[in-house]
Amino acid sequence: MPNNRIWADMLGLDRAVVEGVVFDEDAGGLVASVRPKAREAGRCGVCRRRCPGYDAGRGRRRWRALDAGTLMVWIEADAPRVACREHGVTVAGVPWARHGAGHTRDFDDQVAWMATRMAQTTACRLLRIAWPTVGSIITRVGADIDAVHDRLAGLRRIGIDEISYKKGQKYLTIVVDHDSGRLVWAAVGANTATLRAFFDQLGPDRAGELTHISADAAPWIALVCDQSAPQAARIADPFHIVKWATEELDEVRKGLWRTIRRSEGTTRDHRDKRISKTEALSIKRSRWALWKNPENLTERQAAKLDWIAKTHPVLHHAWALKEGLRTVFRLGGEAGVDALDRWLKWAARCRIPGFVRLGQRVRAQREPIEASLRSGLSNGLIESTNTKIRVLTRMAYGFKSPETLIALAMLALGGHQPDLPGRPSTNPPTQE
Ligand SMILES: [Zn+2]
Repeated sequence: MPNNRIWADMLGLDRAVVEGVVFDEDAGGLVASVRPKAREAGRCGVCRRRCPGYDAGRGRRRWRALDAGTLMVWIEADAPRVACREHGVTVAGVPWARHGAGHTRDFDDQVAWMATRMAQTTACRLLRIAWPTVGSIITRVGADIDAVHDRLAGLRRIGIDEISYKKGQKYLTIVVDHDSGRLVWAAVGANTATLRAFFDQLGPDRAGELTHISADAAPWIALVCDQSAPQAARIADPFHIVKWATEELDEVRKGLWRTIRRSEGTTRDHRDKRISKTEALSIKRSRWALWKNPENLTERQAAKLDWIAKTHPVLHHAWALKEGLRTVFRLGGEAGVDALDRWLKWAARCRIPGFVRLGQRVRAQREPIEASLRSGLSNGLIESTNTKIRVLTRMAYGFKSPETLIALAMLALGGHQPDLPGRPSTNPPTQE
């Protein structure tokens, strides 16, 4: 090759010297032989300190680099070992790749950038790698980011939640910063030990700075928060409370549907049977009309709600109770606290067993709900958190290990991302 400098520029190797580039038939791509520039050579792969040489290691090594046009490219170099005072005998670090990686740093960064922005299959096809490889790449890119950014710095108002990432009681505990909207912590498991690990990492000083903690009503979250950050106001998550009401409403609807269907069998009259069949079907199909916020109903759904009001007063009553609870949170502030008081009385005497029970459940959470209504923590902040949680669960598909899911989630929602190689940085300057 006449101009190895151009190759070095093209491969983004500003701290290495290209010795030659050949087409390798077997590999089906280009192989660039390189060596680190003198000041980059002989450094420990872990700490990058200069160390005495140890031996030649296991000879030449290859790293997959970004493609050149349609061709795949590998970088090939010696992989000598050095003797580090701290890390012992280790393979010398190279400026173009992370320690122990089989891909160049640029390749890694591009993979990490793509993994959060496009579908699995698209990214894999474009990059010509398998999904498990994407997993190990984002895990090491994530570790790199963690080493530089302290995600737990300056936390004041946080949200804690448990999310199911797989069928069969597989949960992650996640912590979100309400002020930045970022995911700041995630770990496998959903119990006191999991959450204690978060507070251990946070440390007592920073835990003492927390002012608000929003969470669902899980007792283990309440327990750990009361022990580790007793000064922080515990705030009920409106999303979860309203969800309880929605679930209860659905039980009422299903119960009604079953009653109507049972009565079908006993009716001999052909016309009656047809009517009840239609009725059962109507109830069955009313799910969305009952679930959706009234302002979002389509005309047909609104008509269905009118029909329910006229024909099935109990179901309509249950719907009104659900909407009432939603209104409590929509009002917020003192008006919300007053509305909650009225709602609790209403639920207590509504004579729909499920909603009487719901009333008791809500009453047990009265303090965190009132704190939620009175705090400046807006519903919108908590809802955006919940949207993020749903994004997370969708990401879970196709990953075998939850640690990989966590690495991807931190990349996507943690606020720090590697930049695309060769483009100006889009990350805000680090404030630490
Ligand atoms: Zn070292």
